Amino acid sequence: MVVIMKPHFTPEQLQEAIQAMKAGGVEVNISRGTETTVLGAEGNAAQIDEELLEQLPGVEKVMRVTEPYKKANRKYHPDDTVLPLPNGRTIGGKRLAVIAGPCSVESEAQIIEVAQSVRESGAAALRGGAFKPRTSPYSFQGLECEGLNLLQKAKEATGLPIVTEIMGTEYIELFEECVDVIQVGARNMQNFDLLKKLGRKTTKPILLKRGLSSTIEEWLMSAEYIMAGGNPNVILCERGIRTFETYTRNTLDLSAVLAVKQLSHLPVVVDPSHACGKAWMVERMSMAAVAAGADGLIVEVHNDPKNALCDGAQSLTPEAFRSLMSALDPVARCVGREV
Ligand code: PEP
Ligand code: MN
Repeated sequence: MVVIMKPHFTPEQLQEAIQAMKAGGVEVNISRGTETTVLGAEGNAAQIDEELLEQLPGVEKVMRVTEPYKKANRKYHPDDTVLPLPNGRTIGGKRLAVIAGPCSVESEAQIIEVAQSVRESGAAALRGGAFKPRTSPYSFQGLECEGLNLLQKAKEATGLPIVTEIMGTEYIELFEECVDVIQVGARNMQNFDLLKKLGRKTTKPILLKRGLSSTIEEWLMSAEYIMAGGNPNVILCERGIRTFETYTRNTLDLSAVLAVKQLSHLPVVVDPSHACGKAWMVERMSMAAVAAGADGLIVEVHNDPKNALCDGAQSLTPEAFRSLMSALDPVARCVGREV
């Protein structure tokens, strides 16, 4: 952290700024230029309240020179993180991880049919919501624990690892037993109590979706919460953000994929389904995501999208998913990856 003093600060104001920095646990290096005096913090400035420091009468400006996330930061961990799945596939690494399945688990026949078809097309894992965060309390809320049982059956039938969303801390033990990748939904990205406990109580990979209106730094700080708790296994998921545009459900921020790949070592997957809200856009946006450097995708696939209980309009049929996987192949090769 660097503090720039105002042009005509008094000696008392200088001492006040120095004391405020020292109280935050750092040593202070004073450099007096002809026009500007700058105070440099030596040590970890994380405890210093920037806003308060900037309010001091002699202080012109406070600038942070390092990012507030450390464990998620590529500076301190230059190599890409690669997370193994129980079926031998990985999230991160040369081969793309495509996670596919319905928005919600609806029945045994539905989830097994979808699981078998996406596995044949080359999916690395099966998604399916058992606990659904719906905007309306009157909409289908998911089959809850019964949904988890059905996911388990689909895993037994296909060998595909299970990716499903957790909504509260009370389910962590249950998820520890039967889920392979725990999804934290966009609406829970800043549920700090949930993030802390997912850090402390499990080492299962956490697929952390970007919040609806979250900045890249807020998203990385949420990953940091999980990692600081003791779970280093985090996957970032860009799923579209809120903008003024209403034609698409959200706006897919592909530049965020490049940004977080540069800022962090964590694997990044893209969810084109929730980003666009329209099935016909999913294949092209998936190709674009791979071109942008995503390590994988999470795509909604339903055996009967017209009658889906949730998100039918953005769900691919199993045939459309097969076509998506073929379309990804040349793009993946172009950027040194494989499907
Ligand atoms: C989902 O994946 O089904 C979901 C609800 O996603 P999001 O949290 O990104 O809206
Ligand atoms: Mn959905």
